Amino acid sequence: MRLKDKVALITGGSSGIGRETALLFAQEGAAVVVADINEAAKETVKLIEKQGGKAAYIRTDVSKASDCENMVAFAEQTFGKLNIIFNNAGIMHSDDDNAITTEESVWDLTMNINVKGVFFGCKYAIPALRRAGGGSIINTASFVALLGAATPQIAYTASKGAVLSMSRELAVIHARENIRVNALCPGPLRTELLMKFLNTEEKKQRRLVHIPMGRFGEAKEMAFAALYLASDESSYVTGTEFLVDGGITAAYVTPE
Ligand code: NAD
Repeated sequence: MRLKDKVALITGGSSGIGRETALLFAQEGAAVVVADINEAAKETVKLIEKQGGKAAYIRTDVSKASDCENMVAFAEQTFGKLNIIFNNAGIMHSDDDNAITTEESVWDLTMNINVKGVFFGCKYAIPALRRAGGGSIINTASFVALLGAATPQIAYTASKGAVLSMSRELAVIHARENIRVNALCPGPLRTELLMKFLNTEEKKQRRLVHIPMGRFGEAKEMAFAALYLASDESSYVTGTEFLVDGGITAAYVTPE
């Protein structure tokens, strides 16, 4: 088992990438704390327990400092330590558009969850990782941190750029404490988050045309990448923009 005796905290574990990763980490031997604003995350815990794993849920709004402090304390109290944090919770607001039409409130909400949430996750998890002798931090950025998106989403794009640059700095600062920090950059996925945003066939095709593989990715495919970054197999990997994107960032023109 690749995460035997590890304790992992995953934010945004009620659906999509977070749920798939929680299930996979538990199968690989980790005890998993699922932190989410949505109580549907309890279902993730049930699924893990059903497959014989260990998990616990804590209601968390990652945009609130006290909630993030609590989720880390809860992980240490429940399972004795913290080795891995996957700061994965994020939103893509349906009114997030171009710079002219996007409201300030949409910008603020997106930044509070997507950027401040990752900052708070790191702020409170790093002392716990130190107590455990080191660990792995994985922050979910996106391919839009590297490329301009064809469908405008100005706040989301800016937020993921911030996650990527924040992850790099954290990696450099904490490298000598045996704490690795990587940004997972998924391509477009067939999860609820993106499908709600690309809500017409035309919008879906507009995005698909850029992906060499010609399909959306699956949450499970991100979970496997997160597993590698969480495990000791990636012991020399830090500060990366870890792309799992169906080739989207490699393409200039995609094949027919
Ligand atoms: P999802 O909507 O299925 O999952 C997002 C999770 O975050 C949900 O469980 C939700 O309840 C939780 N969440 C939202 N606000 C929260 C808050 N304030 N506090 C705590 N939890 C909160 O979407 P997903 O596709 O699995 O997205 C996971 C991450 O991957 C996000 O950061 C997203 O930006 C990123 N991402 C997704 C795609 C994609 O195409 N789906 C591409 C690149 C990056």
